[in-house]
Amino acid sequence: MRGAAYVNGTIGPLETAAIPVLDHGFMYGEGVYEVLRTYSGEPFLYDQHVARLRRSAAAIHLALPFDDETLRSWVDRTSAAAGLEGDTYIRILTTRGVGDLTYDVRATPVASIVIVVKPQPAPDPRLRNEGIAVALVPILRNHPGSVNPMIKSNNLLNNALAMQEAQRRGAEEALMCNYRGELAECSQSNLFLIRDGVALTPPSTAGLLKGITRAFLFQVGQEVGVKVEEATLMPADLDIADEVFITSTTREISPVVRIDGRVIGSGRPGELTLRLWDAYHRRALEMTSLAGTARKTAQGLGTGDWGLGDSTLLTGKRPPDS
Ligand code: PLP
Repeated sequence: MRGAAYVNGTIGPLETAAIPVLDHGFMYGEGVYEVLRTYSGEPFLYDQHVARLRRSAAAIHLALPFDDETLRSWVDRTSAAAGLEGDTYIRILTTRGVGDLTYDVRATPVASIVIVVKPQPAPDPRLRNEGIAVALVPILRNHPGSVNPMIKSNNLLNNALAMQEAQRRGAEEALMCNYRGELAECSQSNLFLIRDGVALTPPSTAGLLKGITRAFLFQVGQEVGVKVEEATLMPADLDIADEVFITSTTREISPVVRIDGRVIGSGRPGELTLRLWDAYHRRALEMTSLAGTARKTAQGLGTGDWGLGDSTLLTGKRPPDS
């Protein structure tokens, strides 16, 4: 696989990158992560992703031994080492670190940090033309009193088992309910359904990861005149949805046309979904292009100010999840 990885200070080819067996990320799944992507070489919504990484780390009482500027320099160095043309996928992971086999945090005084940079393929045109099938799986999304889904945790067994069940059913994503039977989110994406022209998404109290894409969609909806609201949703709401779509950093917006036996709307990607997707993509390109220009200018002036990756500078508003 093409790409590069930063592992605790060393950058090398992705294929041979390794961490010690005694890393508690490997042993116990103790760690948190982020996934970002670039457009035209610039990471999109970088500041929001780093802020969520810090929130996730704080939630597992993991002290991160680096500041934002240092992290950014590692991301940039890893991206440069990857030397990839086109857009890239960037995964930042940090774990409890290497130490003896005990849950005692004193055994692991230094967090490990890994950054993976690999190609980010363009969305398959099939998504836009045909949409995808999703399976509503019996596996429940984690109870917030257990491993809270709000933490973007390396401990992904819940998500992996859900996705594997969906794949067995011929679907491309797994939709999960919470312990109350409400729709929560998918294994790797957030859920939206459109009813009477309004895009509805489960609230964070349903127990879900507050997606960066989900938050950004509230702004995009405003721009294109589509109301986006949080609402408690039940599986029966899928039967009366006009359109359904899922959101994530790497997939942007994927139209959903079938959920198990249910055909959504006309069985084709919905009009409002595509309108939101187009607007999302356009905004991502605009913002990363502006951020790239600002960064180059700042580098020329020697200020090293990366701040224009923050969408608030363009809209003056923070998305609800930031
Ligand atoms: N929910 C889960 C469980 C996820 O794993 C992801 C992304 O990987 C998302 C939602 C979407 O989050 P984001 O939009 O920040 O990529």
